[in-house]
Amino acid sequence: MDNARQILKDTFGYSEFRHHQAEIIESLLAGKDAMVLMPTGGGKSLCFQIPALLREGTGIVISPLIALMQDQVDALTQLGLKAAFLNSSQGSVRQREVESALLAGELDLLYIAPERLLMPRMLEQLGLIRLSLFAIDEAHCVSQWGHDFRKEYQQLRVLQEYFPGVPRIALTATADARTRSEIIEQLELQQAQVFINSFDRPNIRYALSEGNNPRDRMWRFIESEHPNDAGIVYCLSRNKVEQVAAWLSERGRLALPYHAGLPEQVRRTNQQRFLREEGVIIVATIAFGMGIDKPDVRFVAHLNLPKSVEAYYQETGRAGRDGQPANAWMAYSLQDVIMLRRMMGESDGDEQYKRVAHHKLETMLGLCELISCRRQALLEYFDETLAEPCGNCDTCLQPPQTWDGTEASRKALSCVYRTGQRFGVNYVIDVLTGKDDDRIRHNHHDQLSTFGIGTGHTATQWRNIIRQLIAQGYLDIDADGHGAICLTQKARPLLRGEIELQLREPPKTERKSKVKKARVAVDLPDTDQVLFEALRARRMELAKEQGVPPYVVFHDSTLRDMAIQRPLSEDSLRTISGVGESKLERFGRTFIEVIQAHPAPE
Ligand code: ADP
Ligand code: ZN
Repeated sequence: MDNARQILKDTFGYSEFRHHQAEIIESLLAGKDAMVLMPTGGGKSLCFQIPALLREGTGIVISPLIALMQDQVDALTQLGLKAAFLNSSQGSVRQREVESALLAGELDLLYIAPERLLMPRMLEQLGLIRLSLFAIDEAHCVSQWGHDFRKEYQQLRVLQEYFPGVPRIALTATADARTRSEIIEQLELQQAQVFINSFDRPNIRYALSEGNNPRDRMWRFIESEHPNDAGIVYCLSRNKVEQVAAWLSERGRLALPYHAGLPEQVRRTNQQRFLREEGVIIVATIAFGMGIDKPDVRFVAHLNLPKSVEAYYQETGRAGRDGQPANAWMAYSLQDVIMLRRMMGESDGDEQYKRVAHHKLETMLGLCELISCRRQALLEYFDETLAEPCGNCDTCLQPPQTWDGTEASRKALSCVYRTGQRFGVNYVIDVLTGKDDDRIRHNHHDQLSTFGIGTGHTATQWRNIIRQLIAQGYLDIDADGHGAICLTQKARPLLRGEIELQLREPPKTERKSKVKKARVAVDLPDTDQVLFEALRARRMELAKEQGVPPYVVFHDSTLRDMAIQRPLSEDSLRTISGVGESKLERFGRTFIEVIQAHPAPE
């Protein structure tokens, strides 16, 4: 383990192991199998990279993400390691080069897609050489129920048969127990030691809000907190993706669309620009994201309600992988709920599937309307308990006001009931507020006792109330496509006046946020900020020269430490987290020059 620590420092430039990294490495060094659950950004890669270096032979890393292999290998090469990948994006000449390096035992690590690995020729070649380990990345792809299912992943169980004695490590960021047991079963990892890390991402600040003009509100958020930062904006439809990307561009941001309807070439270019340039915003449908390894995504914004808490957590998890402060921001509306319900109704899944999907949406909506700590609820969803409120989510930072909504709720429920549970939200509100309307007269609903009983609230307030009633499960939206709202079982005691109901006060106006901002740059005094920007500029030049993303040279957090500590010698530079020997040798002088050119103020 001393050797492992030495590599951590010398090669990667880090002084401490995180989470269970040390134990996982120890287990592999002892030749045992391991199964690792760690959230995105937790530091899974080191768990197999270090043992691969310490054990004799080549480590084989199996990943479905062909598009990312190049960057992963580039990053390792920058660290001075001998890594390569084999996949269909390469020409045959390059493939043969890699194969002969592999057969000559020259590689520390080989990245490969499962379908390639499973080819008889490949298995044969691997049988000829020494292997240090197999790392099965994104191991949840074995799960038939997950959205990333790959059938080749299930065949990976042959590894055990063909290569007995070579330790295997399966890694995933998917948390739920069902996926976990599927991985163990499918990959025959019953003997593996299982390492489960906390899924908390304390550096991400969650904020979810409902209200008008979500796009404008998002713009205020981006402008004030992330004027130069990279981020991802998620929308539900392709159309909206295009519109929002154009709209952000008009406002001077470099914003690029990404969705399944765009030509492959455009998608690839936009993803590359997001990875390689600084401060790019990707506006995307959920088609974007799996395995996006960019560590310095500073915000993830949702302009629509995600389908489930899992999806939400996975998408927001792409922010702040480097552990620096990041924001997860969401705006949602009742319209989103209606639309998602309709999409579910129209999907060709069976009843069981629809029920599950409905339940997931309800849970998501529940999270939105919460008046207690968001993080506690999120972690609870993943069977984890956070003892205290987190202090880094919107409800912790600005506790929402509540009011006694019993009376108003009863009026709304009763109006839904009396109009026959056949109408959408707008109609119900029109009846509640006593609107002069032909359709209402035609239906004789102006004769109802509930006609006009809701004049004490505006239509907007009623939308808010009804949305909360849906979120709390008193009302439901029919999946029949018309968006009719109906009562649930739970509504009865409330209607009868047997229970009381606290509702969340809608934010009256956009309160000026007094809380400390999560923007990285804010932490730096002005003079350090100037140096930080200069270091970033030098990093960009180096990255361009070598055709790699800037973070492959150094992470923001490393540059930030440089800007604060201003190391002027190689020895002092070595103490900065993220500076290993290889990078010190290659980039040390040039960054010291930048620091020298920006002397600390007296
Ligand atoms: P994952 O694959 O789990 O999403 P990565 O392996 O990409 O995460 O690691 C996320 C980031 O954390 C990387 O930039 C990595 O260099 C950094 N990291 C990993 N382990 C450590 C550590 N022990 N100390 C500091 N940084 C670390
Ligand atoms: Zn909180």
